[in-house]
Amino acid sequence: MIPVFFYQNGARSFTIVKVNPILLIRTGGWQMAAIAVDMDEVIADFVGKELKLFNRLFHESVTRDDLRGTSLRQLKPEFSDVLLYLRNTNGYFADLEVIPDAQQVVRELSRHHNIFITTAAMEFPNSVTDKYNWLRRYFDFIPELNYVFCGDKRIIHADYLIDDNSRHFTHFSGKGLLFSSPHNYYEKAENRMNSWNDVLKFFGEID
Ligand SMILES: [Mg+2]
Repeated sequence: MIPVFFYQNGARSFTIVKVNPILLIRTGGWQMAAIAVDMDEVIADFVGKELKLFNRLFHESVTRDDLRGTSLRQLKPEFSDVLLYLRNTNGYFADLEVIPDAQQVVRELSRHHNIFITTAAMEFPNSVTDKYNWLRRYFDFIPELNYVFCGDKRIIHADYLIDDNSRHFTHFSGKGLLFSSPHNYYEKAENRMNSWNDVLKFFGEID
């Protein structure tokens, strides 16, 4: 294909190529990034749900600050099994709150980039239907074919991965953006995102 016309205006560009006898317009192309977005603790408030349920069931008063550098299962090992059991019950992932500003920012990013939701749903197989319905409810602007319910995230190939677990960056060929969550509070990260506004700023600067 031989480009016959190229136009660029800031981050926007397109090339018109002539493929005899069809004229194709290729928009964006090389400037559109593939952004993989994790669910729990990135767009879905997993810790909020776990704390609320745990405190109510067991008359405790654990806060997000108590979980800095740890997890509830590590902080309360005597409840570890029951916490795991709860996570794997139907409906557990159905009513998670949306992380502040996630909807607006992901919607904005989806106008310029390809967004994929990449979640290690196989850790909790019963979560799959809840997660699917949750995405249809709150992120219906992302095509269903862009949902990647996976096990090992090493299979993910994208330009960026926004995740609260830095272990997923180890074999990731793109750039990892660490989304802040209490458990990663003390981790050093090259690209730490404390909020979705940080994410918006990050992509605003690279566009
Ligand atoms: Mg996560």
